Amino acid sequence: MIDIILSARCVRKLKRELKAAGRNEIGGVMAAEQIADGQFLVIDLSVQRDGTPTSFVRDPLQHRRFMRRFRLLTGNNPERFNYLGEWHSHPSFLALPSPPDVWNMHLEMHDPEQTSSFLMLLIVKLGGSGRLVGSTHAFRRAHAPIRVRLSASDGVSVQEEADFRRTVPGRSLQQDQGAFTPAKRFRREFRGDQREYRK
Ligand SMILES: [Zn+2]
Repeated sequence: MIDIILSARCVRKLKRELKAAGRNEIGGVMAAEQIADGQFLVIDLSVQRDGTPTSFVRDPLQHRRFMRRFRLLTGNNPERFNYLGEWHSHPSFLALPSPPDVWNMHLEMHDPEQTSSFLMLLIVKLGGSGRLVGSTHAFRRAHAPIRVRLSASDGVSVQEEADFRRTVPGRSLQQDQGAFTPAKRFRREFRGDQREYRK
């Protein structure tokens, strides 16, 4: 079992940033502390604010700098404090990974520089009453992504995005139960999409 817990600071930061970004997608990377076996507390997030309403393209350099600083501040203790994965917002869609999101994580997992055995993807948005709504999925090499539990520290809250994936075509995790869709099929299916997939 894997548990992702957002710190109060991160929940406040996400809400503030999501509000300021309005309909534009924003995102970044998550830095976490492993507080127990399989339990990760997200203690900081980098924020990149140049997305559009339908796309967010991560700038790896910016986030590498953020992680370098985080490792330095936490005393270079990667067993306990480390990069957990990525986050971005879906202001106009469900806070669930889209097929291009799954594909991007798949690419990142197979990057030769990637040393983690798994990566998390957090998708967030602001709910109707200003609540933070989100989902987290774990990605491992040669495995289908699995949804993991998302919660928040005492005093703040995050609501799990309801899973309507079967009724929302085109914005869902199509390969949830099986293997990843092969690259060719992905490219063919999403050629006409307006989103940008490169990182
Ligand atoms: Zn997305």
